[in-house]
Amino acid sequence: MHLDTNTKLAILSAYNGRRGDLPRAHSVASRPNHRRIASLGRKGEKPRLNVAHFLVKAGPEAWALIGPAMNGDPAALERLRRITRTLERPRRKRSSGRPDRGAPLANTPCEGTCRERKTLRVILEWAEATLGYAEHFPEDLQMRVSRRMERGYGTHMVRGGVHRITLSYRLFRHGIEGILLDTALHELAHLLDATTNPRGRSSHGPSWREWCHRLGAIPTRLMSPEAGARVRIAAEEDVPGRIPDVVQEWLDQQGEVDAT
Ligand SMILES: [Zn+2]
Repeated sequence: MHLDTNTKLAILSAYNGRRGDLPRAHSVASRPNHRRIASLGRKGEKPRLNVAHFLVKAGPEAWALIGPAMNGDPAALERLRRITRTLERPRRKRSSGRPDRGAPLANTPCEGTCRERKTLRVILEWAEATLGYAEHFPEDLQMRVSRRMERGYGTHMVRGGVHRITLSYRLFRHGIEGILLDTALHELAHLLDATTNPRGRSSHGPSWREWCHRLGAIPTRLMSPEAGARVRIAAEEDVPGRIPDVVQEWLDQQGEVDAT
């Protein structure tokens, strides 16, 4: 759907004016979504606001609610849903790779190298042992490395009660171990948010941000442009990463304890 300049500017300023601590969007694009009303993506380095065609049609009253709704304001989200509910939407596509909510997770194998899998396993052990919320980690939590995840860096999914955290292989490189750990903490905050709230799911709302504060994760949806640039530089250098320092230190202490 083509957006004329005036509409673009109106949607952008409506979002940017009430975006709270979400990133400022530099551009806006319209998407043929069935369900998702709005999301943040990227265009090059800069955050871009993606909005559903039906949201564009909904007009200024709805646009003013984008920022608060994305920031986790439940009243704004409910109003936005009510306004857009009656609008014409494309038919839901059933052929997407993502299973429907409630269906079991597809059995996607971990695509990490031996070294990456070990790093991931140790991060999880460290998190359970040191963060203080071990009782909220599900027994059958799956942690995976993906070599196909090109758009984001990590995801947390829950289907049929099974939780899965997937991290992009791009994070497992030398020099960006801190970014790997930040991303893992971001997803673990989603996990703990989902396992401790009644909905059983997690968005980037207030309860997730609280978990970020508890875990020391950065409470933003998107990686900072600086961190993104560092990931790209590390990709060019392509040297396998180590275990993040704080996790390695913990591991070393474990070794000392075990030895005595
Ligand atoms: Zn997230």
